[in-house]
Amino acid sequence: MKPCRIAILGSTGSIGLNTLKVVDQHPQRFQVKVLSAHNNFKLLEGQIKKYRPGHVAVGPEGLAYFLKAGFKGIKFYPGKDCSGLAALPDVDVVVLAMRGTSALMPFLTGLRAGKRVAPANKEALVIAGDLIMRQAQRHGGRIIPIDSEQSAIFQCLDGQRSKPKSVHLTASGGPLRTVASRDFRKMGPKDILRHPRWKMGPKITVDSATMMNKGFEVIEAGHLFNLRDDQIKVLVHPEAIIHSMVEFEDGACLAQLGVTDMRLPIQYALTYPERLNTGLKDLDLVQWGRLHFQKPDLRKFPSLGLAFEAARRAGSQPAVLNAADEVAVEAFLNGTIGFSQIYKVVEKVFLAHRIVKTPCLEAILEADKWARQKAQEIIRTI
Ligand code: NDP
Ligand code: MG
Repeated sequence: MKPCRIAILGSTGSIGLNTLKVVDQHPQRFQVKVLSAHNNFKLLEGQIKKYRPGHVAVGPEGLAYFLKAGFKGIKFYPGKDCSGLAALPDVDVVVLAMRGTSALMPFLTGLRAGKRVAPANKEALVIAGDLIMRQAQRHGGRIIPIDSEQSAIFQCLDGQRSKPKSVHLTASGGPLRTVASRDFRKMGPKDILRHPRWKMGPKITVDSATMMNKGFEVIEAGHLFNLRDDQIKVLVHPEAIIHSMVEFEDGACLAQLGVTDMRLPIQYALTYPERLNTGLKDLDLVQWGRLHFQKPDLRKFPSLGLAFEAARRAGSQPAVLNAADEVAVEAFLNGTIGFSQIYKVVEKVFLAHRIVKTPCLEAILEADKWARQKAQEIIRTI
């Protein structure tokens, strides 16, 4: 069997490193053709030596370093625009493992070139889901999601002839599920970055604490599976064993369960429709004994409600939500604002936005830029 040739954009992050572990589990099945990173070029260097990709994209400092070091047989590109790497003829699957809106252009380019695109990144779908899904349809590019909830829904829908009535997105509840909201203002980055179930990059961990991450997933699922917002339910499930569920007209509910390890959805997206051994522990439900479920508390986690509102308003509103959140979370992580102020900043930007109903790419990028500036402005006044 010919090996699957992959591009890993964002190979130095949490998803990127897990993708390389999947490659290590089945070295004969995969060839790493492209790697990319932003700043962490020392880690990238080790990956280049081990996997010998043909193409590497990296930020300015790393680019200067690698060009000087002179790696034979490897082409280096500025990381700013690595979208061309998603369309290379010797790439079969593009893994979008980078954070932020930088994934949007490679997403579109990969689909245009008819590739299988495996997004862990959710920001691109949140801000430009309509454009992405249209592009996939037009050019026959296949999207197999990595985000665990979307992967679960994809797996439950695979082979089904009927459309789902609704989906139930599960949420672990994040690091603040059991903390009273009056204590939120005492929470610093160190407290928040301790996620009880998943080990992820800092931005998405903060988003899990506000539940904005689940809100983004509501918008993401709407695009990926063509669902209205009233067909998407959020279910808090602290054990994070059920990764999501799909409910059909007849009342049947299909769920995907598994241990909490991103290697499972990553490998599935790479080898679909085949399933291979992941080397992970078996799921032991007897050891868990009980699984728990709760309704999300929208008063405690208003970000989730705001994301539902963005899904309803659609147009440029989700792009504004995403951009404002990115700026506010960064300000929290660098100590400029407190945890409770994240929502306040995002809500102010959200409400100040004049929606563009069916935005083209330029209008989305314009809304993104406006929201970032507005969020900075608001943060300066805090
Ligand atoms: P990390 O912060 O751990 O890693 C981000 C990666 O993106 C790194 O390789 C980083 O490079 C690169 N990067 C950062 N900024 C840029 C940029 N401007 N241009 C190009 N590359 C950039 O994030 P995660 O791996 O946690 O998350 C990646 C994406 O996957 C996010 O969209 C997240 O929401 C999503 N996701 C993550 C999950 C997880 O388990 N971690 C689960 C589900 C979804 P460098 O290291 O050089 O800075
Ligand atoms: Mg998720």
